[in-house]
Amino acid sequence: MLAHLRRLTGALLILAALPASFHAQRAHIGEAIRDFVSVDAPVVALTNARVIDGTGEPAREGYTLVLRDGLIAAMGPTASTPPPAGARVIDLTGKSVLPGLVMLHEHLYYPTGPGVYGQLGQSFVRLYLAGGVTTMRTGGNMNGFMDISLEQRVASGEIAGPAIDATAPYVNGPNPFLQMTTLDTAAAAKRHVDYWADAGATSFKAYMQISRAALGATVQAAHARGMTVTGHLCSVTYAEAAGLGIDNLEHGFIAATDFVTDKAPDQCPGQGRGQQSVADLDPQGAPFKALVTTLVQKGVALTSTLTVFETLTPGRPMPPGLAVLTPSLKTQFEQNYARTAGNTQSVYRTLFPKAMALERAFVRAGGVLVAGTDPTAGGGVIPGFANQRQLELLVEAGFTPLEALAIGTRNGARFLGRDSRIGTIAPGKQADLMVVAGDPSRVITDVRKVDTVFRQGVGFDPRKLIAPVAGRVGVW
Ligand SMILES: [Zn+2]
Repeated sequence: MLAHLRRLTGALLILAALPASFHAQRAHIGEAIRDFVSVDAPVVALTNARVIDGTGEPAREGYTLVLRDGLIAAMGPTASTPPPAGARVIDLTGKSVLPGLVMLHEHLYYPTGPGVYGQLGQSFVRLYLAGGVTTMRTGGNMNGFMDISLEQRVASGEIAGPAIDATAPYVNGPNPFLQMTTLDTAAAAKRHVDYWADAGATSFKAYMQISRAALGATVQAAHARGMTVTGHLCSVTYAEAAGLGIDNLEHGFIAATDFVTDKAPDQCPGQGRGQQSVADLDPQGAPFKALVTTLVQKGVALTSTLTVFETLTPGRPMPPGLAVLTPSLKTQFEQNYARTAGNTQSVYRTLFPKAMALERAFVRAGGVLVAGTDPTAGGGVIPGFANQRQLELLVEAGFTPLEALAIGTRNGARFLGRDSRIGTIAPGKQADLMVVAGDPSRVITDVRKVDTVFRQGVGFDPRKLIAPVAGRVGVW
């Protein structure tokens, strides 16, 4: 609850810093992004649409939405909501309008070689937008300034992409990663938070080798500035992190080391040992239920990133979107996929379905689940395409399509403290919308059929966004 109040305060501070005209302005379209735009008119009327509003309520048929000044100015049954004079009218018969996706474990980098994460922000932001993502949080940063620079250039209309909540470089202890810093004391962690918050980062992510002392200092320093902290943890358990005030934990329960019986404080027992303990976990058992109770009571949200774990699980379909990769990166993933398929001992055979069951149990117990994709591991998680896949996997995990869509839209917006503006469809909300063919409230795979993505009232054509980067993702 306290964490929620801090988030709220942070959101108010951010809003106060924006120009007064922000609420009523169409997105600016710079020259470099004009080619990707398919709808650019002062007033737009979307008629005969099926509206899936992101709240979990059933779809409504035959609706008109009027977009003006970047907002949803009016909405009602088409028969009683005539388009205003001069509006550009777009007939959406057979199509659905959803809130733009709000996804919280995204990255602007991709594994390009052993221990090397290539900075692919230029192509990734386009792919995210093409996939229907209108707001994203990066879930850790391997570079420094790219997340922050892209956040600013997307906001100014210079580059096409979703609104970005830019994480600082990872907050971690001594670690084997070439592109990460080492913060081994509370004082060093606080300096890191203050430096990157001053530089423009808007959230923080702790990583696998952090100490409790450094994590506690990170949370305090970030909360003091109205910012949140998430973590992909290992050295610190979920229960310990909840006690230290963390706001969010990544990868559902897959990164929990709470159930490793001989775990030493501040030591990562190895990701494999943690994962085996989660694979062995009984969703009905007392240890799991006690952890869920702790997380629910402390208001700690969990991010589901089933997409990245699917690429590590034998027997799963090829992930969507591989064709945008450079030929060498595509081949690299296909080789990893073949290796995974042949691994009969893989822990993921039990861990992947178990992870789904645990996430469902967490939500049924009152926990807040948000969604993301995590384009890391051995590759194959392709921005935009993977965001749609993540919704499909939530349905496979046992959520209804309406629940999955609310997790991928409203829940993300709530976590970011922006749910008064984005994440659901209602008059007065920002016109961040995804138009798809078909009805994903019944057939979740219809989320792949993206027709137009509106950001602050401007419509982007996903085909035009993807075509110039196809076959080149991996270079930039
Ligand atoms: Zn990640």
